[in-house]
Amino acid sequence: MTQDNCIFCKIARKEIPAKFVGENDLAIAFWDVSPRQPLHILVIPKLHYANVAELTLNDEASLVALMKLGSELAIELADESFRLSFNTGEAAGQTVFHAHGHLTSLTPSGASA
Ligand code: AMP
Ligand code: ZN
Repeated sequence: MTQDNCIFCKIARKEIPAKFVGENDLAIAFWDVSPRQPLHILVIPKLHYANVAELTLNDEASLVALMKLGSELAIELADESFRLSFNTGEAAGQTVFHAHGHLTSLTPSGASA
């Protein structure tokens, strides 16, 4: 369940480069290509879902894997003060239609872009 023309599917398949920071069975994390906060990591399911609602309603295992990976990285890299947010739909600012959480923090503990 991946899409040939989806940029985040390509990153998940390691076909195009990204600055990886972690992964588990069903989720992968990498730096946002244009970080807007001192810590700005994207956490995505390895399988393709267009947004967080599709992910949540269809694949609880991938959702939990994404949230676990995001939480582990937040504890490790963000001093436990962080946001994990999902833009959903064009009107809400979503530009890549493969579900992804933005893990952001103003107070990273050691990581840099
Ligand atoms: P959104 O606007 O919520 O869909 O977020 C998409 C995010 O993906 C933006 O913050 C982009 O900077 C980021 N992005 C787009 N292409 C790449 C890429 N190839 N590698 C890493 N981040 C990317
Ligand atoms: Zn995809």
